[in-house]
Amino acid sequence: MPDHQQQDVIQEEPIAAIATPVGVGALAVIRISGRGVLDIAQRLFRKSGHPDFQLRESRGFTAHFGRVYEREGLVDEVVALVFRSPNSYTREDMVEFSCHGGPVVVRHMLQALCDAGCRLAEPGEFTRRAFLNGRIDLLQAEAIGEMIHARSESAYRTAVNQMQGNLSMKLEQLRQRLLESCALLELELDFSEEEVEFQSRDELKEQLMQLLEEVQKLVDSYRHGRLLSEGVATVIVGKPNAGKSTLLNTLLGEERAIVSHMPGTTRDYIEECFVHEKTMFRLTDTAGLREAAEEIEREGVGRSYKKIGEADLILYMLDINQPDWLREAEVIREFRDTYSRAKLIVIANKTDLSAESASRISRLQEETGCDVAGVSAKQGEGIEGLLRLMSGMVEGLDKLHDASVLVTSLRHYASLRNAGDAVENALELLSAYAGTELIAFELRSALDYVGEITGKVVSEEVLNVIFDRFCVGK
Ligand code: GDP
Repeated sequence: MPDHQQQDVIQEEPIAAIATPVGVGALAVIRISGRGVLDIAQRLFRKSGHPDFQLRESRGFTAHFGRVYEREGLVDEVVALVFRSPNSYTREDMVEFSCHGGPVVVRHMLQALCDAGCRLAEPGEFTRRAFLNGRIDLLQAEAIGEMIHARSESAYRTAVNQMQGNLSMKLEQLRQRLLESCALLELELDFSEEEVEFQSRDELKEQLMQLLEEVQKLVDSYRHGRLLSEGVATVIVGKPNAGKSTLLNTLLGEERAIVSHMPGTTRDYIEECFVHEKTMFRLTDTAGLREAAEEIEREGVGRSYKKIGEADLILYMLDINQPDWLREAEVIREFRDTYSRAKLIVIANKTDLSAESASRISRLQEETGCDVAGVSAKQGEGIEGLLRLMSGMVEGLDKLHDASVLVTSLRHYASLRNAGDAVENALELLSAYAGTELIAFELRSALDYVGEITGKVVSEEVLNVIFDRFCVGK
């Protein structure tokens, strides 16, 4: 954001953290950032072959090979990379030490840095400083967190887009437009004695309607953005013994769920993730949907229904060899209508046991109007076809929306909805010829809601929630 760049840098107290995973590795990177870190580094670091070298005088983006010493002597051979404010990740002065990647080496390095004046960093503290110093906005900071945690190609792509700042730019445009309308209205209030209109009400209405449309588009993109970033919430439902646990194991490729010959042993639900092609599926296996005669099963089934309500994708599984296979079509239709928000795929299982699978599958298709995948969960047959149907959920989503301005986080979605509501209120007030003050108030709150997303208006509490999700050293 252009105005971010010009912000003054505040150098906070010096912090230190390991930036690479803890454990044994070829290298570990330890970074320090804040007021006086070049002096701190200078106290510990001796450049090889240059006894008079002054690290604190070193230019930014230069690397120096040398040794780090603590009171007891040599700690390690390292490369020290110097960043000078404001050209660093946090915009503060920073030094990154690459040392040998062992837990004890790292402990000594951190101890030496703390003895020299640093304190250990909190999770996300480096990125938090980057935000507070205006190098990135809140959306971009969150995108960095999402990128690190991304487990699928889609989640990674959406995070990269957000980090580039396209959504930030879009929101900033919306904010500027709101700000203009708001400022004109507030100016009118200053001249209230004279009853002037700096912007005709028709013009304002036209502008707000356009704005609302754009906010609405972003709100709508969340439905898809969430699938890409968080994965598809998927539930497997069906009568006990249909083969749900077996399918779960086949999909996950390992024995996670307890497979059992007794009906109804999957008492609770478990959630596991797997990635197919670019998409992550979050799979929940539910307790059998048979009417829970046994008390012990009731709790499990109750929770299952809640999970079904939250699902993006329902896999309804039945044993195609059971005498009542066709009667289940009615239950499936009911499911389809009750949970119409989700996509429903019918899985006709145990095709290995029946010669009539093919005709039964077409019949089920006719009766339910759903896609039906014939599989043998046990033998792994038909799984590719099922995965193809499942992937259909997210195919083409990027063509439906401008992928670079997709809303992927619940926090952004909620703020945008609030902003949209406020603009809608303003429009209603306009139609009712309400006072300027009331309209200005609604626009002001819409402005705040949009500002909440990029971090223009944000509480300490929200910042804590966001940065606590980061790891130490990021
Ligand atoms: P759930 O109650 O729906 O979770 O069903 P399970 O996965 O526990 O499976 C019930 C029984 O059906 C087990 O004995 C499985 O080995 C068996 N089973 C599951 N899938 C298949 C399949 O595709 N073919 C055959 N022949 N048996 C299966």
